[in-house]
Formats: sequence, structure tokens, C-alpha cells
Amino acid sequence: MTSPLLPYEAVIKDIRQETYDTATYTFAFKDPAAHAEYSFRPGQFNMLTILGVGEAAVSLSSDSGRRDCFQHTVRAVGSVTGSLARRKVGDVVGLRGPYGRGWPLEAAGDRDVLIVAGGIGLAPLRPVIEHVLRSRSAYGRLLLLYGARTPRDLCFTGDFERWHQGKDLEFHVTVDRIDGQPWEQNVGVVPLLLDKVKLSPVNTVALICGPEVMMKFTVIDLAKRGVPGDNIFVSMERNMKCAVAQCGHCFFGPKFVCKDGSVFSYPEIEQLWGKGV
Ligand SMILES: Cc1cc2nc3c(=O)[nH]c(=O)nc-3n(C[C@H](O)[C@H](O)[C@H](O)COP(=O)(O)OP(=O)(O)OC[C@H]3O[C@@H](n4cnc5c(N)ncnc54)[C@H](O)[C@@H]3O)c2cc1C
Repeated sequence: MTSPLLPYEAVIKDIRQETYDTATYTFAFKDPAAHAEYSFRPGQFNMLTILGVGEAAVSLSSDSGRRDCFQHTVRAVGSVTGSLARRKVGDVVGLRGPYGRGWPLEAAGDRDVLIVAGGIGLAPLRPVIEHVLRSRSAYGRLLLLYGARTPRDLCFTGDFERWHQGKDLEFHVTVDRIDGQPWEQNVGVVPLLLDKVKLSPVNTVALICGPEVMMKFTVIDLAKRGVPGDNIFVSMERNMKCAVAQCGHCFFGPKFVCKDGSVFSYPEIEQLWGKGV
């Protein structure tokens, strides 16, 4: 991308409904040269522009190794995301990026990768799952602990069967409550799934994304189990405007979430999260 603030026209190639309010959109840039030039790392995000409406930060949710297209998984909560939800295949929106540091996959090399995600928080971690599955011998165990409020709030259920198969991934899923829906797996909040796995703490790198309260409880539990703070990474969400560390909308203490994050190691944000974590 030539200018970090310039949105590029991107065509919606496919839309897959994940839940009642969340869908995965497959995009390709209209300009083949811009598309060929574009790449991202797992955990990075784009700014989505809807002309006349505004911009919103959205994580890349697809395999970063895929070159023909990329995906965003978006929950319709407000003006920009609600406007995207009314678009159809073939429509054009603006995208600029990628921004952010992404997940520290280099630090995770050779170690066990523990992914803990809640709700749509699995979106920025799905590229990690696909990356590790593709480069399987470069990592230790891959553990995925995922949960949502109810069965109908689970995202990426289309991937579950593939992720459940085989010895490459240990996958546990839970819901807070069943709400009368068919469900035969775990019930309880996501951090409780840590009881389902046997960790080798010093050799584990934990990547966490979801509601802040879920991330805090997960960090507390991991620390109790002996996972060093340096091995724990969380993705923070803050109101974002420019995404290039100019406007200050996303300040988290002295840090810009857009440039210094959105992924932070636990020691980087421990003080900002406050005592008790
Ligand atoms: C790094 C990063 C990555 C992200 N990745 C994703 C992602 O992959 N997918 C995703 O879906 N989201 C993601 N988000 C969150 C997304 O950017 C925000 O939800 C964004 O605010 C949506 O923009 P919007 O214009 O649709 O919503 P806004 O219109 O800005 O609304 C945002 C919130 O404010 C509330 N609100 C809006 N108007 C009012 C009002 N008048 N009164 C009271 N409340 C109101 C809405 O209910 C909503 O909860 C990410 C955020 C960050 C920082």
C-alpha cells in the first residue's frame, strides 16, 4: 500500500453467515497490483471504510498464507459494521492496512501454542491456527480453548470438524449457557477449559483474545499454573480512528493500541490493567 491512510477498493467475493449478527466476508482488492502487493501477519488488522459512514478496525481472520483472497469476520454492532452487513457479494468497500504487530509467532517457535478465545475473539486467532497447522513441525502442541455465550454465538463452526480431526490440534469448546439449543459439549466460562488440558507451563506460549474479563481471568489462571508472564499475549480492543499512531483515540495508558499492539505481552499491560490481575 503506497499511503497508510488511503483505502483501496475491495470487492466482496463471498459472505458466510457465522451467527445471527456475525459474518465472514471474503475480499480481493479490485486493483490486481494492489492485491498482489498485499500481505499480512496473523493478528494484524485492516481499517474498513464505508463511504459516507466511517471506518472501523477489523482483524484479518483468514490464513495469511492464502494469496487469492483474505477474510474479515465482522459482528454488526454499529454504523460501519451494520452497513457492511447490508452489503452483498460483488459490492465494493474500502480497506487499508495491514496494521498492528500481530501475534509473536517467532517467540512461539518450537513451543506449545495455547490459544484461548471467546466469541468473535477467535477471528484474529484463526490465522494462527491455520499457520501452525501448515507449519506443523515448527511448533510443539497446538491447543485451542474456545467458548461463546450460547451455542448459536459460536463462530467458525464450519471449521470445527477439520480442527477436531487428527492429532495436530487439541480442541475444547464451551458455552456459558445452553439456552435450549442442542449441545453435548462443555458448559461453563472459557477459563474453566484450562482444567481440560495438561500444560507444560514454561514451554507454553499463550495467545488470548476475547472479552476483557475473560482475558483477565485466563491470565490469572495461567499465572497460577506457572506460565511466565512473558509467554502470555493478549489482543486489546480500543476505539480506533487513524490506526497509524497519530490521533490518540486508541491510547491505552502511554501506548497506542494501533501501533504498539493490538497484541501486547502481559508484562507490557500489567500495570495498565490494574491490580488484582
Ligand atoms: C484492533 C481491533 C480489531 C478488531 N477486530 C474486529 C473484528 O475482527 N471483527 C469485529 O466485528 N470487530 C472488530 N473490532 C471492533 C470494531 O472495530 C468495533 O466494534 C467498531 O466500533 C465497530 O464500528 P461501527 O461503526 O460498526 O460501530 P460504532 O457505530 O462505532 O458502535 C460501536 C459500539 O457503540 C455502540 N453504539 C453505537 N451507537 C450508539 C449510540 N447512539 N448509543 C449508544 N451506543 C452506541 C454500539 O452498540 C457498539 O457497541 C476490532 C477492534 C480493534 C481495535
